[in-house]
Amino acid sequence: MAVELNELRDQIDAVDKNILELLAQRLSLVQKVGEVKSTHGLPIYAPDREAAMLASRREEAAKMGVPPQLIEDILRRTMRESYASEKEAGFKCLNPELGTVVIVGGHGKLGRLFGKMFKLSGYHVEVLGSEDWTKADELLAKAGLVIVTVPIDLTVDVIEKLGNLPKNCILCDLTSIKAKPLQAMLDTHDGPVVGLHPMFGPDVPSLAKQVIVHCNGRGEADYQWLLKQFSIWGVSLCNMDAGEHDHGMTLIQALRHFTSFAYGLHLSQENPCLDKLLQLSSPIYRLELAMVGRLFGQDPNLYGDIILSSDENIQMIKRFHQRFGEAMQLLERKDKQAFVSSFNIVSDWFGEYSQQFMHESQNLLKQANDAIHRG
Ligand code: NAD
Repeated sequence: MAVELNELRDQIDAVDKNILELLAQRLSLVQKVGEVKSTHGLPIYAPDREAAMLASRREEAAKMGVPPQLIEDILRRTMRESYASEKEAGFKCLNPELGTVVIVGGHGKLGRLFGKMFKLSGYHVEVLGSEDWTKADELLAKAGLVIVTVPIDLTVDVIEKLGNLPKNCILCDLTSIKAKPLQAMLDTHDGPVVGLHPMFGPDVPSLAKQVIVHCNGRGEADYQWLLKQFSIWGVSLCNMDAGEHDHGMTLIQALRHFTSFAYGLHLSQENPCLDKLLQLSSPIYRLELAMVGRLFGQDPNLYGDIILSSDENIQMIKRFHQRFGEAMQLLERKDKQAFVSSFNIVSDWFGEYSQQFMHESQNLLKQANDAIHRG
């Protein structure tokens, strides 16, 4: 039996080596695609091509008796790698006549990422860091685009120092809140103004499929090239009113980060052994622990600023606290009937989304399980 098994394993190893060679071949083709796209200024993310390619491969897989989801998983993972390597070919520069791109706070995490992307696109980038204000006039005099990316609580003060920008210079910011910085930019600078919020952190492998929200300030026509430049980087753009954005962020960022913070605080005080918890974890708990734990691997000031950035956030968190208390009363009354009927009300509210979310999360959970090594 051992001999038979070894022979089969040798054959599997040989097939895996073939897969590896094919992957290397695919990556090298993708690199060439990156060069062509860079020359012609085409976006690195082409949703229609991606969807059509996946549909064809799924169909072919089914005919060959290979589960369609298997080839889709493999190709999606391969494409993630491809987007990251296409990036290295650089990007077409859409506005070669632009003056300097000055990144205020450009030594920070997000500032470095944007600095790198503008350099990869052929722009001249300068950083105005916290120690550089004595040479600010000199730097800003040549600026065609100024990007403010400093901690949230300093943003408005920093914007107010930018009153002497060249008339046609575009002023924008990357702050996680939008209404206050946008108003400050409009009050400070008479030229084109746009508020931006990248909905991703600095650790993304590429900007393909990442979202940037843009809130119009002034001189929309003057900064269309900038939005197009982001598209070339693979970004999906989302235009939104600054107030509406901030309202959405109360749920998407403030409440979510705060509940993770409170859950982490609770865990740390209950003080379970994390190793044991991980051994016992189902994939869903492991994912949850990872999502909570990753918060505490980041900058507390950023999250503190996001949560504390508006009274609306605090009111939202208070309402959540109140509803948590109301839900607790069900438990204290040991009222299973009320629990079930509340559950059904929420289930009706989610409607078809609950099935869609079941499907999406199943895929994530399978991937989380694949990544586990139990030695
Ligand atoms: P960071 O702390 O890594 O960087 C901020 C930089 O600003 C630092 O280099 C700091 O020295 C510099 N700075 C401070 N005061 C300054 C001043 N007066 N003049 C010039 N530079 C000054 O923070 P970050 O994570 O890069 O976040 C920056 C901005 O990006 C924030 O407004 C945040 O809301 C936004 N943002 C961050 C993320 C993220 O995940 N990090 C995501 C989306 C948006």
